[in-house]
Amino acid sequence: MTINTDIWKKSPPFSVNSLPKWPCPFCGKGTLAIDYKTLKFKKSKRQFDPDYFKMDDFEDNFLLGVLTVLSTAIEKASWVQSRFVGFLDCKSCGDTVSFTGRAEIYRKNPQEKIDRPARLYPEFFSPSIQVFSLSELYPENVRKLLLKSFSLMFSDPASAANIVRRSLEALLDELEVEKVNGKGKKLNLFQRIALFEHQVPDLTGMLNAIRFVGNEGSHSGDVSRADLMDSYEILDYVLDDLYLRSKTRARVQRLSQKVSSSYSNK
Ligand SMILES: [Zn+2]
Repeated sequence: MTINTDIWKKSPPFSVNSLPKWPCPFCGKGTLAIDYKTLKFKKSKRQFDPDYFKMDDFEDNFLLGVLTVLSTAIEKASWVQSRFVGFLDCKSCGDTVSFTGRAEIYRKNPQEKIDRPARLYPEFFSPSIQVFSLSELYPENVRKLLLKSFSLMFSDPASAANIVRRSLEALLDELEVEKVNGKGKKLNLFQRIALFEHQVPDLTGMLNAIRFVGNEGSHSGDVSRADLMDSYEILDYVLDDLYLRSKTRARVQRLSQKVSSSYSNK
């Protein structure tokens, strides 16, 4: 399956009027649409997000830093920090997902004619929405870890990336790649991927890319959403190749042999 990058690479905030068409976690076929009647907001006490005040980013240009921080503060002051809860319905199977997170409501001044739609920063979905479908042919441990990772992708991308790394370890366990060397010393993930290279050489570059993102999540605790999404896309391809395409390949190979032998016997 190919990940729909249009949906997943867009970062919050999302305008409440144009939320991404997330796939339904129940049927996997339909997309989720917000039920506006259920959407509720409550004003938060905290009015400014400290992330917006980052003078460090402007070390080389203090004046630009001051101007940027000021204009951001003015823009920020136009939005009331809030929390939200709401429900999303699947158009196909009719089931419902709840979601919650942070929101910003526009503080319209009396002269303004046009209101601006609320901006949502979703944090949690119940049940969790899935970036790619997890086939039952995939190892159960890998599926469980990926579901956990998906559940954290909005609220804590670094932990989500760290769990992707753990799912990679679980995948190598499943593929019976050695965990210790001849002297009984524990092998690290890099060394295990190198061992796996003998079995499937063309996938190891991809596994190492996932390892890099996972390492970043574990050590610096700072992973961009785009990198996390890239690691999901790579893992989706790897799992598909190992568990779905290989089955089709084996079947097509058997078919080819059958056809060939029926002709060679003529
Ligand atoms: Zn559905």
